[in-house]
Amino acid sequence: MTAINPLLQDWNTPYGLPPFDLVKAEHFVPAFAAALPAHLAEIDAIAAESAAPTFANTLAAFDASGRLNSRISLLFENLTASETSPALQAVEVELAPRLAAHRNAIYLHAGLFARIAALYARRAELDLDPEQLRLLERVHLDFVRAGANLPPASRARYSALTERLAALSTAFTQNVLADESGFSLALEDEAALAGLPEFLRASAQEAAQQRGLPAGSHVITLSPSLAEPFLTFSDRRDLREAVWRGRVARGAHDGVHDNRPVAAEIMALRQEQAQLHGYPTYADYQLVDRMAGKPEAVSALLGKVWEPAKKKAEDDRAALTEMARSLGQPTPIAAWDWRYLAEKVRQARYDLDDAELKPYFALENMIGAMFDCAQRLFGLSFVEQHGVALHHADARLWEVRNRDNALIGLFIGDNYARASKRSGAWMHIFRSQSGHNGGTLPVVINNNNFAKADVTLLSFDDVRTLFHEFGHGLHGLLSQVKYERLAGTQVLQDYVELPSQIFENWAEEEVVLQRHARHYQSGAAMPPALLEKLKRARQFDQAWSTIMYAGPALIDMALHSLPNGSKVDIAAFEAQQCALLGVPQDIGQRHYLSHFQHLFSGPDYAAGYYVYMWAEVLDADAYDAFIEAGDPFEQKIAERLRRYIYSSGNKQDPALAFRAFRSRDPKVEPMLAKRGLIA
Ligand SMILES: [Zn+2]
Repeated sequence: MTAINPLLQDWNTPYGLPPFDLVKAEHFVPAFAAALPAHLAEIDAIAAESAAPTFANTLAAFDASGRLNSRISLLFENLTASETSPALQAVEVELAPRLAAHRNAIYLHAGLFARIAALYARRAELDLDPEQLRLLERVHLDFVRAGANLPPASRARYSALTERLAALSTAFTQNVLADESGFSLALEDEAALAGLPEFLRASAQEAAQQRGLPAGSHVITLSPSLAEPFLTFSDRRDLREAVWRGRVARGAHDGVHDNRPVAAEIMALRQEQAQLHGYPTYADYQLVDRMAGKPEAVSALLGKVWEPAKKKAEDDRAALTEMARSLGQPTPIAAWDWRYLAEKVRQARYDLDDAELKPYFALENMIGAMFDCAQRLFGLSFVEQHGVALHHADARLWEVRNRDNALIGLFIGDNYARASKRSGAWMHIFRSQSGHNGGTLPVVINNNNFAKADVTLLSFDDVRTLFHEFGHGLHGLLSQVKYERLAGTQVLQDYVELPSQIFENWAEEEVVLQRHARHYQSGAAMPPALLEKLKRARQFDQAWSTIMYAGPALIDMALHSLPNGSKVDIAAFEAQQCALLGVPQDIGQRHYLSHFQHLFSGPDYAAGYYVYMWAEVLDADAYDAFIEAGDPFEQKIAERLRRYIYSSGNKQDPALAFRAFRSRDPKVEPMLAKRGLIA
């Protein structure tokens, strides 16, 4: 270790970005060793202030503290997710409990909490503006939820269990990554490639190349951008079964990467956590900080879709079974047949072939489409910057400018799958927006896992994912709040998917597709007939996707609603729940518990997988405002959307924000109609 640690220097880089080219894994432990005590010293100083607590000397000071630490933490989180290495993984394991201990030192700081609690008790008399009041209420709740109100005797135990939980979450995530990168299915001859369209062959070749296999080899990995199209197109039932089983078994192999005992221990500790807080279950504890409020509200929503979707799936199953017979494939059909047969039925019924669509969805064109939508809705322009070092050569950087051409933020797009990256798609930040020091420019990153190719062609689902994450990105970029705790996506968990999911709607708009869905070779616009077929075909097989999603959401709630002190055998519990719910065996679930990272890679989505559907109620209803206006870019609605949803962060209660946008409370019917569950 040299004396110069780039993490602790001033970042004299373009836009104050992290000095990516200088940072190495070994810099993080010493950097945190300096930054954590420095942060704690700031906290001690706020707590030791001799003047009586005021909003300024306590809340505003707390919100402004720890900037060095958060700068390093955000970089660390991004690198371990987007571009990890064995060295970084080792650092992650070492640091997880230390970072959790640091969080405890702050949120269990008796002196600081005493000041916050004193202000909270007098909040009505403090003459605060709405954003200040919201900050006070939020921070108070953060402290209470983190254990600040616990009797001193319980606090040490509480710290120990949150630190252990952090270590277990890290292990859970790393085990999934290990199983994903450990799996590869070599397609050794032409027979193994049967049915695969050109784009998938190209991606499978690229994946083989990345694994150092000889030129011309083809490999299918568990990355969704390979595995899902493989399940859709491969004529080889045995190979589809191998991929399906490989996906299901992630985290469920005996040995060092077995996540079943990890998840069981996480559940035991969460129950103890809920117990200490005085809640009967962990779900009750989690739901206090959500729009839903109580587990019953979640059950009511999921109950509206589960049985109707199963009922609706019966018709689809009959059509798929008939298709299987006509192809000479065995029946009853299995989970590894559903996508394949559904694609065949879709082709027969709608004459629509995914492979026919893909040439119109070149990644580059779709990036242009999402930027164009942001321009037409919010007046934003995106100007690509070259020559600035980022975390990986495939990542790209854009300046984001508003109508007055003022720089409002930076956007990083990292779109390709690689072994060093987590699977899935997500948005994160390197820097938050806030009013701190005259204003801080947000730096937002979108990660996807598209298969890299000379020209990357997306499926329409990929396009929606791209737009989804960009919706989160805009939530971070358009944020206009004073306090960092309230900025961008730091909203309630069942509200955070509203800005992302509503943005998917523009990907389906005809005017957007006409302009941007152009053939990657000829540049021709998508033929109107194909566009029409795409629209009609999208209604097909909605029951399947509803079941794939709602099953895991129901099992999540059931698991986290177990009374405190219940011992959980993860595999047995899951099997029992699947039987109880009647999860159709030929459909299965999008996630199984042994790799369900939403639940176990951290607490945010625990008892919270439902949040996507909760937000879907909001986004389907919100988007209807544009449909009612007959213009997807109607400016008055777009301006209300920007003001109340995209830029207001957590400045106000989300129910009030929605009401301000829509002039009424949300209705559930638009979501049910979109899923084809009501007429
Ligand atoms: Zn999302």
